[in-house]
Amino acid sequence: MTGATERATSRVLMALAAAWLCIRPECGLGATTAPPPPYVEYRQPVIAIAHVRVIDGTGAPALADQTVLISNGTIRSIEKSDATPPNAFVIDGTGKTLMPGYVGTHNHLFTGVGPRGHHRWRAMPFSFPRLYLAAGTTTIRTTGSMDIYSDMSAKAAIDAGTSPGPDIDLTSPYLTGPGNDDPQMYALRDAKDARETVDFWADRGITSFKVYTYISHDALQAVVTEAHARGLKVLGHLCSIGYHEAAALGIDSLEHGPYFTDTEFVPGRPATGCVDDLEQETSNAAIDPRDPRITGLISDLVARHVAVSSTLPVFESAYAPPSDAIEAPTLATMAPEQRDYVLAIRKSLFGPWPPAVLKKYPHIAADEPRLIANETQFELAFLHAGGLLTCGPDPSGYGAVVAGYGDWRELELLVAGGFTPLEAIHVATQNGAISLGREATIGTIAVGKKADLILVDGDPSTTISDIERVDTVFRDGIGYDSKKLFASVAGLVGEL
Ligand SMILES: [Zn+2]
Repeated sequence: MTGATERATSRVLMALAAAWLCIRPECGLGATTAPPPPYVEYRQPVIAIAHVRVIDGTGAPALADQTVLISNGTIRSIEKSDATPPNAFVIDGTGKTLMPGYVGTHNHLFTGVGPRGHHRWRAMPFSFPRLYLAAGTTTIRTTGSMDIYSDMSAKAAIDAGTSPGPDIDLTSPYLTGPGNDDPQMYALRDAKDARETVDFWADRGITSFKVYTYISHDALQAVVTEAHARGLKVLGHLCSIGYHEAAALGIDSLEHGPYFTDTEFVPGRPATGCVDDLEQETSNAAIDPRDPRITGLISDLVARHVAVSSTLPVFESAYAPPSDAIEAPTLATMAPEQRDYVLAIRKSLFGPWPPAVLKKYPHIAADEPRLIANETQFELAFLHAGGLLTCGPDPSGYGAVVAGYGDWRELELLVAGGFTPLEAIHVATQNGAISLGREATIGTIAVGKKADLILVDGDPSTTISDIERVDTVFRDGIGYDSKKLFASVAGLVGEL
């Protein structure tokens, strides 16, 4: 046997061994007595979390010393901790806070990778669902897919109970238009193609459609009409179409917010196609959040019931000063090659601007951080005006934002920008559920709702960083050990 043949044979044997292993009861097929996976901490049918502080997700003040009773995956009662309910497994919540699981509206199942210098998008069907759940995100909308069958498989495994992760609302592949140069997206040809594409994916379980930068007016109109006829939603990161125009066409959610993705205020904007990124950045950074163009936009979006999905972490990763190092736990999730790639891109992003750019855009170094500050002010004003603000980390970009850790960072950036912790948590829970049309079953701690809950040490209603001190995440009443879930994917992001 040659060495190559030996290796091939051993691979065949390994495959056979794996197949053999997976018909054994431990693998879950027909198992009734298999031990729970190591990351499952609680799966008693009736659980009482006693003496716990409750943040219910509505924005109301926290309630002290409550007992929350869960039975068979549903919240049965929330009462002052006077007596422990009989027949319940009791978890002592003293010193801890219970919140609804987060409902993320911009939570992709892919990340940016750079094999041999070529930036591409790679699905993370194994690590990202675990990271989301570990952080407390119990429901996600994928808001654009780069590998739709991988996303579908991840959802199927979670739904079947064979893999841990959040409840997933699947979004379509990216639908864009002429001028797109991303090989992993689909450029719709015309309105007919748009309708057929919506129907194709709707028939396969997709519940929302992601429309992207170069989509044409006619194609967007067709996507919206067809999706709405089937009771489905349309989410846009646009460029060729402005926010007012998209709202008038009936779009359901605008992703990232106007400072980052609305081109309509850029002087000399062409009638079709996109404008230069830096042109847009410098133009939008100069608009004060109290400017009538912004307040008028808020009124229009609120009147037309268009949601805005905040994704501050991905912009922080590109625009924030270099002193904002990537935190060690985030780096620890990455495979070595991914870590090298992310750190190299970061270094190049925060190096000096080329003289030609500085000549054309002399204030660019100050404009980028200002975009984040202005956008956060817009988001707060939009929320206060009655707008449906939702959020997610957007773990795309060059890979610096990772699922789970990015969800926490989004909440912390909202609070840094002026939101109260209770407002930020409300955005990340109840508002996300409303945007997904699931507010009757998830998004708040209320009797009759699903027991999708986060138990953290400390009090996030006063100290938002306490959201990082996760003890247990409950999904459908099953308690997952957050630290074990995080540990189960260490060093895998970028690969799996
Ligand atoms: Zn995105």
